[in-house]
Order: sequence, then C-alpha cells, then structure tokens
Amino acid sequence: MPDRPVRVRIAPSPTGDPHVGTAYQALFNSAFARRHGGAFVLRIEDTDRARSTPESERAILSSLRWLGLSWDEGPDVGGPHAPYRQSERLPIYREHVERLLAAGHAYRCFCSRERLERMREENRANKEFPGYDRLCRGLDPAEAARRAAAGEPHVVRMKVPTEGHAVMHDLLRGEIRRDWASIDDQVILKTDGFPTYHLANVVDDHLMEISHVIRGEEWINSLPKHVRLYEMFGWQPPVFCHLPLLRNADRTRSKLSKRRNPTSIEYYRRAGFLPEALLNFLGLMGWSPPDGEEKFSFDEMVRSFELERVSLGGPVFDVEKLRWLNGRYIREDHDAARLVDRLAEWALNRETFERIAPLAQPRLQTLSDWGYLTAFFFADDVPFDAEQVAIRGLDREATLELLQIASLRLDARRTWNADELDADFRRLAEATGLKLRDLTKPFYLVLTGRSAATPLFQSMEILGPDLCRVRLRRALERLGPVSAKKRKQAERRMVEIFGEPAP
Ligand code: GLU
Repeated sequence: MPDRPVRVRIAPSPTGDPHVGTAYQALFNSAFARRHGGAFVLRIEDTDRARSTPESERAILSSLRWLGLSWDEGPDVGGPHAPYRQSERLPIYREHVERLLAAGHAYRCFCSRERLERMREENRANKEFPGYDRLCRGLDPAEAARRAAAGEPHVVRMKVPTEGHAVMHDLLRGEIRRDWASIDDQVILKTDGFPTYHLANVVDDHLMEISHVIRGEEWINSLPKHVRLYEMFGWQPPVFCHLPLLRNADRTRSKLSKRRNPTSIEYYRRAGFLPEALLNFLGLMGWSPPDGEEKFSFDEMVRSFELERVSLGGPVFDVEKLRWLNGRYIREDHDAARLVDRLAEWALNRETFERIAPLAQPRLQTLSDWGYLTAFFFADDVPFDAEQVAIRGLDREATLELLQIASLRLDARRTWNADELDADFRRLAEATGLKLRDLTKPFYLVLTGRSAATPLFQSMEILGPDLCRVRLRRALERLGPVSAKKRKQAERRMVEIFGEPAP
C-alpha cells in the first residue's frame, strides 16, 4: 500500500493525433488513482514549440473524454497546482535551472550547432559514445555567467557522474542499473529559454506532488537522468512504474505504429467502435481481472486493479480482438432501441445527413439511390478493384508513388477542409504535370470504393482525416507494399512539393 497520498498523472505532448497509447496510460493511471482514493492529473507537456499545437491538445482531451475518462486536475478543469500546461510555467523552470547552476550541478554550454554536429560525426565514425564531450563543463562559471549576460546564445546542461552506475527502481522490474559512462550531460534548458522534457517533467512531478509515475516503457532510458535530477534538487522521487509498450499484431510484434495499425483514437470513434469497448480492450493490455472475464467496465476494473499484476510480456493491440469485444458490447448491452440511439450518436443523424445531402442531391433519381451513393461515409473500410487503381499515362510504380506522396501530405495536414484539400491536390497535379481529373481518379477508388462518387474533396472533409488516412494507408499496403527506400523517396518529393516537413 502506498505510503503517501496517491497522485498520478499523464503528461501527453500535444504533437499529433490522440494516440491509443495515451488512452492506455490514462486508463491505468486513472484506475490506480480510483483504486487508492487518489487524484489523477492531466498535464500538457508542450515544451516542443515547433511540434506542439492547440488543435492536438484539444483532440487529446476530447478523445479521452469520449472514452469516458476524466481527471481531477488539468488545463481544462484547473486545480491547486495550476497552470497545467508547461508553456505557461516557464518562470518556474528557469528558477529551478538557476538553482542547479548555483549549486554547481549544471553548467552553461556555448558550443555551436556546427561543433556539436562535427563531434557527433567523429564519434560515430570512431564508434565512440555519441554524447556531448563536456567541453563547456570546464568553463569558469563566473565567466560563463558573464557571457550569458552579454547575450551569447547557450544551453544549460546537467552534470551527470562520469563513472559508477545509476541504480533505479521500477515497480514492475525491480532494480535497474545503467553505467553513467553511457549517459549524456543532458540539455535541460534550450537556447530559446524553454526547458527540455527531462527538466520540466521532473520539476512538475515534484511540484504537483506526484506519488507514482506510471508511463510507457520508452522512458526507462531517461530514468537515470530523472533520478539524478531528484538527487540534485534533494527531493524524494516518486515510485516509477513503466508499462509495457503496445505492439502490432503482425509477425514483427514491433512497437505499435500507425503504418501497420491505426493508432489514432479518433479513427476508432469514426470507424464505429464503442468507447466502452475500446476502453475495456485497453484494460486487457498487460492486465486482466482475477476472474479471467474479458468483458468488464471501468468500475469493475477499478475494484480489482493491482498495478503489481501488470505483466511485462508486450501486450498486442489486436484489432480483430477489439472487433470481437465490440461486437459483444453491441449484442449484450443493447436492445434494438438503444442500438438505434448509439447509431445516431455515432453518425447516422440529421447533422451528418445535412452535410452529405447537398453533395448527393444532384446525383439522386430516387430517394433509394441514397443508400448506395452514400454508404462509404458510414463504413470503415471500402472494397475497391485494385486493377483499376491507375493514373492515365503513368505506370503502376509512378501511380503508387503519387498515392504515397499524397498519403504523407495528408498525414502532415493539421487542418482539414475541402478548400485546403483541393489546393493540395492541385499543387500535386501541377508539380507532376498531371490533369487534376487524372490525378484524383485513384483517390476516388481507394477513398470511396468507386470511380465516381460525390465530389472528392468535400467528401473527404466529411469523412474526416482519420478515415481518409487509414483508407489510403491500407490501399498502399494492398497495392504495394512500399519499400522503405521508396517511402523515403516519396517523403523527399512531398517535402519538395509542399515545402513542409514530413509528418
Ligand atoms: N510528455 C511525455 C510523453 O509525451 C510524458 C512522458 C512521461 O509520462 O513522463 O509521453
């Protein structure tokens, strides 16, 4: 039983689509908090200025709420440790960095990007430790402070021991050891005055009185730095518990990735999964109730939840199993009337029909034409004839490359409406010397299942980014598969054409 009040958190970075992995962390943290009468905090870690967006933050909060999760403190509900968005806490981090500098636990580093690049290259060539060579660690701190005061660009790094080993503890794994020699003098404050993840994360976990850090396995490698920061500040560290990573259901059992498996929560919502079934399914990732029953509610999970019983064998996110479980919910928990309500809540409602109607109207001779014409809006996958996926005048490989470029472009899109999609496709047509009509033909097929349908870009707007992206990805998988080399090539082309970084 924990010896301090239980306070846990999730700390998502708002840099993309709301990921099922975030929901999985949220579920386990929330179940643990409820089980011990503690608090569950949601903190937004938006210190990566180039990649964080308010849209992503909104999408994360709303999809977690859709799943039925709630938090006691967070950017949208407030709480005693507000603000809960790191970009609003910069003075706090700066003050803590000053403290480490004053105590000699950190130092200013003025090395230029070019120098660091060169060093990294050399280290790689000599197969040496790829970290920073600690040149600035030897600077006189007073001199360094003067240079900084004069406005010279710099970062602040933490000093990690150069010998011996870090000893850490993980609730599921027991003792973990790492040689300090393999760990870098981590940057804690960037040139732009923003903290890095490591510093902000530790400072906030301490100030927010987090008792247990329950997060993904991918952070274990950061643990030595975190534990060292706690020591340097003289703080009691929380209990650490790294949950196993979700894995793809295919042969590779690799880390869940959107190329092999949809990962956006929004996709599952759009594809007609029930939130309670998805949440239940996530509850089966590394855990199962003592009675072995696989279908359970959140409250039932809380009643028998024990973090110690999470198993480390990589849990497989198997969509087939999720479909099976979802089917059980549909059959076992709904009479016909309730099912009709759920269909309406999902997509079969006046609001959706009113968006589709203007597109369908010119193409209807009878009302019953509606069914066939609009079915693809209400489907997850659409079957199409692979033989027909072709662009006039292009061979199969070139056609695939265009699908790939478009898919990357659509992945990178942060906003989604017909006009912007139209502009993207025009640009792609122009850059490749194709007629827009020829270019869009295969997209009709893979996105709507038909060679002619309601207007493409407006239809895509209604379908939404998640379904469109998944349909395109599946089509590429079916038509390809695309080699890593070809994907890189397409990525370069995408960047050339759209002048924006790859997703
Ligand atoms: N911001 C980190 C993330 O996006 C949080 C990791 C942690 O929980 O410490 O996953």
